[in-house]
Amino acid sequence: MSKLRFKALEDACSHKPVAVATPTERPSVFFGKMVFTREKMKEYIADTILDQLFDVIDNGKPLSRDIANSVAMGMKKWASEFGATHYTHWFQPLTGGTAEKHDGFIDKTPEGKVLEEFSGKLLYQQEPDASSFPNGGIRNTFEARGYSAWDPSSPAFIVGDTLCIPTIFVAYTGEALDYKTPLIKSVSALDKAAVDVCRYFDKNVSKVTSFLGWEQEYFLVDEALWAARPDLMLTGRTLMGHDSAKNQQLEDHYFGSIPERVLQFMTDLEIESLKLGIPVKTRHNEVAPNQFELAPVYEEVNLANDHNLLLMSVMERVARHHHFRVLLHEKPFSGVNGSGKHCNWSMGTNTGVNLLAPGKNAASNLQFITFLVNVLMAVHKHNGLLKASISSATNAHRLGANEAPPAIISVFLGTQITDVLDKLEKASADKGIVINAKKEMKLGVANIPEILLDNTDRNRTSPFAFTGNRFEFRAVGSSANCGGAMLAINAAVAEQLICFKKDVDTLIEKGEPKERALFAVIKRYISACKAIRFDGNGYSDEWKKEAEKRGLDCETSVPLIFEHYISPDTIKMFKTTNVLSESELHSRCEVKWETYTKKIQIESRVLGDLVMNHIVPVSSRYQSILLDNVVRMKEAFDAKEAKELAAQDTLIIRRIAGHVTAIVSKVDEMLAARKIANRLAGERAKALAYHDTIVPLMEEIRKHVDELEMIVDDEMWTLPKYRELLFIR
Ligand code: ADP
Ligand code: MG
Repeated sequence: MSKLRFKALEDACSHKPVAVATPTERPSVFFGKMVFTREKMKEYIADTILDQLFDVIDNGKPLSRDIANSVAMGMKKWASEFGATHYTHWFQPLTGGTAEKHDGFIDKTPEGKVLEEFSGKLLYQQEPDASSFPNGGIRNTFEARGYSAWDPSSPAFIVGDTLCIPTIFVAYTGEALDYKTPLIKSVSALDKAAVDVCRYFDKNVSKVTSFLGWEQEYFLVDEALWAARPDLMLTGRTLMGHDSAKNQQLEDHYFGSIPERVLQFMTDLEIESLKLGIPVKTRHNEVAPNQFELAPVYEEVNLANDHNLLLMSVMERVARHHHFRVLLHEKPFSGVNGSGKHCNWSMGTNTGVNLLAPGKNAASNLQFITFLVNVLMAVHKHNGLLKASISSATNAHRLGANEAPPAIISVFLGTQITDVLDKLEKASADKGIVINAKKEMKLGVANIPEILLDNTDRNRTSPFAFTGNRFEFRAVGSSANCGGAMLAINAAVAEQLICFKKDVDTLIEKGEPKERALFAVIKRYISACKAIRFDGNGYSDEWKKEAEKRGLDCETSVPLIFEHYISPDTIKMFKTTNVLSESELHSRCEVKWETYTKKIQIESRVLGDLVMNHIVPVSSRYQSILLDNVVRMKEAFDAKEAKELAAQDTLIIRRIAGHVTAIVSKVDEMLAARKIANRLAGERAKALAYHDTIVPLMEEIRKHVDELEMIVDDEMWTLPKYRELLFIR
């Protein structure tokens, strides 16, 4: 075995479980310990300010300088007690991750002394410059400053010695350069539009909140093996590697008992997460070997998204203590399942009603059906945009592979709900809706809750599935900022609800009673968006054909999918809801293309280096050993016998030569294709060229490398193999 690989395996096997010192307190005691929660605000901020501050947090009231100063003082006092010496505005640039620039709590006095300082101004707004983040053209002028501004709705927290303040990140012009700004706007848009519709049913509703419960899938790999795989290190996935003879066929990993070393990691991760106020709850082995999942209790979407981003960084940190590397890439290994981040999404009112849960009586069920059907309409109308919102160079490997939903957005409802909608669609307003003396309605939908109780019908192949009291957007990738998908669904549903209200009001103005007006519009919508409903097998080829017939977006080229960001329907929808302007959408689309190109460019370079520095030299060395053997056969035996005895070697020599020749010529071709692509003008053209010319070459090269892995002497192979990466834990 090559020295490199042997050392990596030896180190990996020597890594024992790192025992975690579990806290003596119960989770309910240390939950949120490192968070500046409301309770702590009460302790550290003057009473006279508190009510105003809560008004800022809960109702988005403007923040005055006085409040900001008092909050900053309180925050600093609290953080200092935990030894925090620095603070940072923590934001979410369009790279998809999070960004931070730390500043010490110090200032210089005129006398030349140093003071600990943290003012309201510093809390409220910063100009981190941060000009190197992708901006898609928004910051190309000389006025191109970037500002971060406090998001009071998400509490500050401490990591290490730093107080982290969640912020939005915008350009001088006010245009968004991040995911948080439009996500917050989409939350308000949905709140307003949904409240207006709720008032048909209940005048006490004054606020609708959107919720998110994400399920984070990930892989763990031993750090020694990871370090011996430059592709994993630099791109987050293996660019080559033959299937392991055993992988997930036996499904013996899924929900299996958690390996001890992993369990210690998970325990440590849970403790750290709980301290940061992330309500982590569920953990289990996933389908692929070395693949796991973690899910929290759902929260308000903006907070939940912050928590997911924070969790991803905590995971990486904690994994290192346990000599693991965490892989958040959507497809680190070909041939086994990839990782997603199912986003469970719902809407709830201030009166405690989940708008996506069937109710106890006919009236609440009419409300439920109203919201359900409007979601269907929104997903139908914007299925292309929703796909764009989850598409990336990395997620492309997972979508449409045999374990993940295809690159077509459809909605699964299950037989019971489908039945209800079918009945409603056919019912006539007079027969279907009976309003008796007590003003009770009979829609034939009154008993939905009972039938839903045994709704075990959980179609795993659907990208957007109704699961009883929420929708599960399953197409989201494991490494993504879920904000991208959540702001798209929030805004699309908001636009749809505005439209619904208009349609219903028009009928009411014409003299139609309210219930009949609601019923008539719902009925019309059920027919209009039928094409989006699909309960069958999303993995099948028939579905692809059928979806195309239904007019759903079936594009699979990621750069082309991104164009939905700038389609007239998208621009109009985001404008109506005031979530993103046309120029912000153009900039986002540019960034998507640019990021796509860069990711593939890096992968292609890493692949080129690895094959030329590892695969080709090792294969040639093995080939020459075989050649020596053939020559020596000729010395030892007569020509005929030597030929017979060396037949196998000759065959392998020819095979190796074939693969090596193909690899070298494809690598040259790939280099030439990159040169052509890089010279193209415009991010769209570049991304398309990378997708159309470079990706296919990478796939071809990989095939040859994986074949070589099966013939070249294992002792000489330098890179850890799948069976090692996936099974050592
Ligand atoms: P499964 O893997 O079976 O889909 P999990 O238990 O792994 O389910 O995750 C379900 C996620 O959905 C959790 O984060 C949970 O808090 C969340 N969830 C449950 N109810 C709602 C809801 N009404 N709105 C949003 N998320 C929800
Ligand atoms: Mg789950």
